[in-house]
Amino acid sequence: MSDDCLFCKIIAGDIPADVVRESEHTIAFKDINPEAPTHVLVIPRRHEPDIGSLAAADPEAAVALLTEARAIAESAGNGSYRLVFNTGADANQTVFHCHGHVLAGRNMSWPPG
Ligand code: AMP
Ligand code: ZN
Repeated sequence: MSDDCLFCKIIAGDIPADVVRESEHTIAFKDINPEAPTHVLVIPRRHEPDIGSLAAADPEAAVALLTEARAIAESAGNGSYRLVFNTGADANQTVFHCHGHVLAGRNMSWPPG
């Protein structure tokens, strides 16, 4: 747990969230500002700032995060989904607790903005 981390507070239950899945290593909840019919954030219980840090510190948790993302996408629709890890301020990361955006339920364009 990191002080002043929004997502650590959600894990601790200090801030409410619309939780859709939980596992030993992860918790997943609906994004408060959805960009697709399904927009779920999958986060590790362990506080790490981004997916690379998580993979280096706890590979099992990183794999669990990917497995949970797939499960969310499969239960949400036809299995097509986009998994986004904005990493660093220049890439639009605003919460510095690792999180994967699971986006599904609509067609998506490429390249991303
Ligand atoms: P990023 O810009 O990649 O760091 O993504 C942070 C995401 O967290 C954004 O999509 C926000 O809409 C979302 N978010 C911020 N606060 C909350 C909250 N309290 N509950 C759920 N999602 C949130
Ligand atoms: Zn945190």
